[in-house]
Amino acid sequence: MKKKRIAILGATGSIGKSSLDIICRDSENFEVVLLSGHCCREKLNVISKQFPSAVTVLTSEESGKEKLLKSVLETKPDITINGISGAAGLEPSIAAINAGSHLALANKETIVMAGELVIKLAKEKNINIIPVDSEHSAIFHLLKSFTQDNLISEIILTASGGPFRNKTLQELEKVTLQETLAHPTWNMGQKITIDSASMANKGLEIIEACIFFNMPIDKIKVVIHPQSIVHSMIRLCNGVIYAQLSKPDMRHPIHDAIYFPNTTPSSLEPLNFDCLTLEFFKPDTQKFPMLTFAQEAAKKGALYPCAYNAVNEEAVAAFLNQKIKFTDIPKITEQVLQSDWTGDCMNLETVLEADKKAREISKELVKK
Ligand code: NAD
Ligand code: MG
Repeated sequence: MKKKRIAILGATGSIGKSSLDIICRDSENFEVVLLSGHCCREKLNVISKQFPSAVTVLTSEESGKEKLLKSVLETKPDITINGISGAAGLEPSIAAINAGSHLALANKETIVMAGELVIKLAKEKNINIIPVDSEHSAIFHLLKSFTQDNLISEIILTASGGPFRNKTLQELEKVTLQETLAHPTWNMGQKITIDSASMANKGLEIIEACIFFNMPIDKIKVVIHPQSIVHSMIRLCNGVIYAQLSKPDMRHPIHDAIYFPNTTPSSLEPLNFDCLTLEFFKPDTQKFPMLTFAQEAAKKGALYPCAYNAVNEEAVAAFLNQKIKFTDIPKITEQVLQSDWTGDCMNLETVLEADKKAREISKELVKK
């Protein structure tokens, strides 16, 4: 069989690391043709030494972004794993689709910001977008078994609840950056770790599910599941629920994405049921209003999801730089979402403009 040519965008990050691990387990079938990283030159050099024939792009360099987009188009990978964090992942996703590359998509921002546009483009080009976000991967693979119309009555996203699940509102006011970065079940990049603590990650995922699976927002539920073993569930019209379970290890959804449409044996450690307890709780939207804001943004559609993502990214950056408190993240988000974000989400320029405008307003609010 001809080797599959793979691009790994964001190779220096957490998704990048897991992707490289999966690909190295099967070097007979995969060849890395493109690698990108942002500001970690050393780390990228170490990785690129392992794959001397791959094109390597450091996106933080001058014209680095343009070089990445051009390299995606030129290398024409069979599969592109997009593990870039944040809004910076959107244009590379579009470049991959334009290059005729299937997209293993960890970058949820691509769907939140411009999902309809990206999905339409992929359909036109006959490209598969396979979600890597564990919840969406679970639902995507579950849905393959249920293709009859009107069969799905609910998508149930699981959420670990993050490190502050049991804290009171008063306690949340005082949490430190260090406490926020200590996720109980997943080892991930900084941005998504903060988002897990504020539940903005689940907010983004509600929007991602709504757009990706073309489901009304009121059919997308969230349940807290601290063990992160059940990755998500679907409820059918007969009331029966189907779930996907595995160890919390992103190499599972990455494996499933790059072998899609096949289900292939993996050498990852299987889940063991000895001494396994699974718990489920209702999310507390009083404590975690980022969930409600995401639902509202998804309901309004247009550029509201894009604005939600942008303000959150700016607020998280400010929190990481210790300019604001953890509880300022939802406060700033609420204010930014009060602006008018109607507009055309099928037009990339309008989307990028909304992203920019939301960031400008957010930065002003951070200063105050
Ligand atoms: P990370 O911070 O560990 O890595 C991000 C990667 O993107 C790095 O290689 C970094 O150099 C690169 N990058 C950062 N800014 C960039 C920019 N402006 N332009 C180009 N590249 C840039 O993040 P991560 O945890 O691997 O997450 C990556 C994406 O995957 C995010 O969208 C996240 O929501 C999603 N995701 C991650 C996990 C996880 O377990 N880590 C799970 C589900 C979804
Ligand atoms: Mg997820």
